[in-house]
Amino acid sequence: MHRSQAAQLIAEHMLSQLTPEQAVEAIRAFFNDFIPDDLRPQLDPALVAQHDRHDVPPSIIPADPRYQPVLLHQMKRRLRGVTNAYLGAVLYGTMDRSVDVTGVMTPLLSCPVCGYRSLPILGNWDVCLVCGWKSDPVQEAVPDEAIGANGVSLNQARANFARTGLSSEDARDRVHPHGKFMYPRAEGQE
Ligand SMILES: [Zn+2]
Repeated sequence: MHRSQAAQLIAEHMLSQLTPEQAVEAIRAFFNDFIPDDLRPQLDPALVAQHDRHDVPPSIIPADPRYQPVLLHQMKRRLRGVTNAYLGAVLYGTMDRSVDVTGVMTPLLSCPVCGYRSLPILGNWDVCLVCGWKSDPVQEAVPDEAIGANGVSLNQARANFARTGLSSEDARDRVHPHGKFMYPRAEGQE
């Protein structure tokens, strides 16, 4: 099975598991971000216009069918850059489907702490699901600076990761239990 098809199946499954609160949060995130080019044509034109006016509805009803493509897209975003092996394992674990996932994946950017390719953008406070580092542009420019999003400096976080597998003790609840299996490691790093 091609990885795009696997991601579609997994995203549909994730959507079915979402609580109404999580769905509302994902729809709010849509209103606060630009609309990706591949999503725009799938949307109700009135919804696009509302988004472009920054007109977030005061109460969001996640079951509104106009939000279904938005939610599916948000679920698929969480699968960007994950390995084929991880997609195969999720299909097996959640849907009991044993399939070989194929296709070329576009890796994300390397985390400056752990070296896994886990970050869509650097310096945008995205969290690395492998080591828990929050990508902080100041900390990444000044690697001995402890003040910032992480509470520890970049160099300290690297030392922590080498010792414990986490960027800091506080990062424990930010990592994914299978983070090291989800993302490939940058070349040249072992
Ligand atoms: Zn990391």
